[in-house]
Amino acid sequence: MPICFDLDGTLGHFSSGFVLLREALGEIWGQMPTLEELRLCRGSTDWEIVAELHQMRFGRNLDETGYSAYETACVARFRKVFTPEARAAVGYEGILLGMHRLAATRRVWIVSGNAPELLAFKADVLGIDAAIPRLGSLPRHDRKDLLQRALRGCPGPHLYLGDRPHDLAAAQALGLPFVGIGGEVPGDHRNLPSDAGAEHLIAAVEAAL
Ligand SMILES: [Mg+2]
Repeated sequence: MPICFDLDGTLGHFSSGFVLLREALGEIWGQMPTLEELRLCRGSTDWEIVAELHQMRFGRNLDETGYSAYETACVARFRKVFTPEARAAVGYEGILLGMHRLAATRRVWIVSGNAPELLAFKADVLGIDAAIPRLGSLPRHDRKDLLQRALRGCPGPHLYLGDRPHDLAAAQALGLPFVGIGGEVPGDHRNLPSDAGAEHLIAAVEAAL
């Protein structure tokens, strides 16, 4: 019965994330993608976004080597900015606690649009138990594909928790129930504020399954 959580905006936030993504690409491509180029991207995962920016810049498809170079450069930037001393990342404590409580009795996954090494770094910064499996953005996978991969071989019912319309769209494409976190994902699903307590999260998850 996997319960899948998005990370950014759902379990916490790393506010300068897109700046660091652009800087990382600027380092390896010689020029930063513009904000306008970033706004034109339709995907929600790192693979999709970097592939779209790569297509705009070079007129050809991104490959695994290029994606790996992005991942390395981006993680290095995050390590510099989000040091333990800086405490620049914000964890949603009640949601994180509720997720850990759920993981004691149910199968829980983190399914996120971050490249895998970046996801691993962010999950560690937020203090997420290493025993909770993490699935990050893989080449040629959109968010729906990632969710499908996490659910493969696991009996339902499943659930996805996210903070954006693209999370809801991925859940709907797979017929998954959905719980929203924060105020940026309108719809008739259950929704919790990002400062909700652990009990509220657990109650909303139980009710939605
Ligand atoms: Mg998110």
